[in-house]
Amino acid sequence: MNAFEKEIRAIIEAEGPMPVSRYMALCLSDPRHGYYATRDPLGAAGDFTTAPEISQMFGELIGLWCAEVWRMMGGPARFRLVELGPGRGTLMKDLLRAAKVVPNFLKAAGIHLIETSPVLAGRQKETLASSGAKISWHKNVDTLPEGPLIAVANEFVDALPIDQFVKTKDGWRERRIGIAGGKLAFGLHPVPVPGIDETLPPRLRKAFEDSVLERRDLGPIREIAGRVAKSGGAMLIVDYGHRRTTLAHTLQAVRAHEFADPLELPGEADLTSLVDFEALAAAVKKCGAKTYGPIAQGVFLRRLGIEPRAQRLKQNKDAKTRADIDAALTRLIGEGPRQMGELFKAFAFTHPKLSAPPAFDS
Ligand code: SAH
Repeated sequence: MNAFEKEIRAIIEAEGPMPVSRYMALCLSDPRHGYYATRDPLGAAGDFTTAPEISQMFGELIGLWCAEVWRMMGGPARFRLVELGPGRGTLMKDLLRAAKVVPNFLKAAGIHLIETSPVLAGRQKETLASSGAKISWHKNVDTLPEGPLIAVANEFVDALPIDQFVKTKDGWRERRIGIAGGKLAFGLHPVPVPGIDETLPPRLRKAFEDSVLERRDLGPIREIAGRVAKSGGAMLIVDYGHRRTTLAHTLQAVRAHEFADPLELPGEADLTSLVDFEALAAAVKKCGAKTYGPIAQGVFLRRLGIEPRAQRLKQNKDAKTRADIDAALTRLIGEGPRQMGELFKAFAFTHPKLSAPPAFDS
């Protein structure tokens, strides 16, 4: 047992079994023991790797996506360029470099990064120091200044805490984390939660017993969607998940590139769950924004021209570099189970008057 588990047990002993969302928030963001709060988990030597860390092409194409959205907005003289959960700052670095080709885009952009982890915020400062851009950091989206904005988030939504509910004979009951057999263990709250079926898509209202429903706190995305609907702009979200709400337990822990038990060694593994894009789109629509997708990441990147971009990068390079570029391309757009092209999806929302953003059909 690590020191953090002792603290979590003390909370459970004092207050009773805790909602999954509280456990997830503690494990990821507790200032002293939280996973992101205490380390940089990315890259080959870390616990997992992400699209911007695999290839510069990812951030570059997203940079051109943002610049085109800005042009579609009428090229406002000032807007906020926002990234949620920027990790090492690699996506933003590649985005800013690629967007240089669009006159005045960078001059108009005030850059705002939303990051809870002081370790990763430090890393972002280092990565972006040479970009020359003026950047502000925020712990959450509430302190973003008003005005039109273009926001991006890669592998951010999967880390937002979820709650879980299990269908039983007497209705949906919340899954909680307590102590059983001397260990942290999942259990069910004794009292069913009323009204859940009514909020589900009709096809899921007669779920089988033991079905698991996951519900995510989409607060930060709602806040951005409300601002986009009010002041103009768009957001791009790339993450892994299901197109439609699926009744399944998808909470997962990853440590050193391997799946781990989410209740073991809290704070030492990345804890995420698959994004429910149907629920995400419904929440965004309620805030008044227009939604697009999700489409497969492979489709999204191909439509933005990743293949010719890879060809360009390979020109005049040695065989090893060319092979690395091809491997990165396959990883990003391939459709196999170990590749990201189909598992990951791109989803966008805009001000209702904007036309369809690049790569999304209207
Ligand atoms: N986008 C990056 C990093 C993904 S990891 C990439 O693709 O490489 C998730 C990121 O979100 C980390 O930077 C983490 O610190 C941040 N994060 C997680 N939960 C957050 C929250 N509630 N608010 C702000 N940042 C959060």
